[in-house]
Amino acid sequence: MKILIDNGHGYNTPGKCSPDKRLLEWKYTREIATELLARLKAAGFDAERIVTEDVDISLKERCRRVNAICKRVGASNVVLVSIHNNAAGSGGKWRDATGWCGFVYTKASSRSCHLAQLLYAEAEKRGLKGNRSVPREHYWMKNLAIVRDTACPAVLTENLFQDNKGEVDFLLSPQGREAIVSLHFDALIKYVSE
Ligand SMILES: [Zn+2]
Repeated sequence: MKILIDNGHGYNTPGKCSPDKRLLEWKYTREIATELLARLKAAGFDAERIVTEDVDISLKERCRRVNAICKRVGASNVVLVSIHNNAAGSGGKWRDATGWCGFVYTKASSRSCHLAQLLYAEAEKRGLKGNRSVPREHYWMKNLAIVRDTACPAVLTENLFQDNKGEVDFLLSPQGREAIVSLHFDALIKYVSE
């Protein structure tokens, strides 16, 4: 089983940061992805980041990279997680929205939904609350290109809000980073070991 890790955006993507610029989504998600990849490899899993560049890589190109791997090894032998931070607004102001969520495509496969449920369970275990009302299924659905246009099971995680002051403090703390890395690690290990 091949584990693919995507990280959101690039240094040249406008916005996508905390109002005080302490958290830059492109940078934070690359740091999380780098640590997650190191742990997966150290544990003997076949894992790869699909965007190692700092510049933004288009969704079309991200999907192309994933699908090229799917074509080579078979889509059922591949799994993708795209790591992001959420935002309630774009005006550079602190806001009130909080929480963690994992998105699958509106017509997602059962394997995608299952992975999203594993991720949510690990987030919940670490005390992270769902964003607003948590769906009964424990995953959220959205028409997002990275989960829609990739051939393998795929989930996009929104790891708390970059425009919520308390959540930014947590995300940047050693405990916060550990929670975000380890929730992905534990869920992916469960998924590939089943
Ligand atoms: Zn994002």
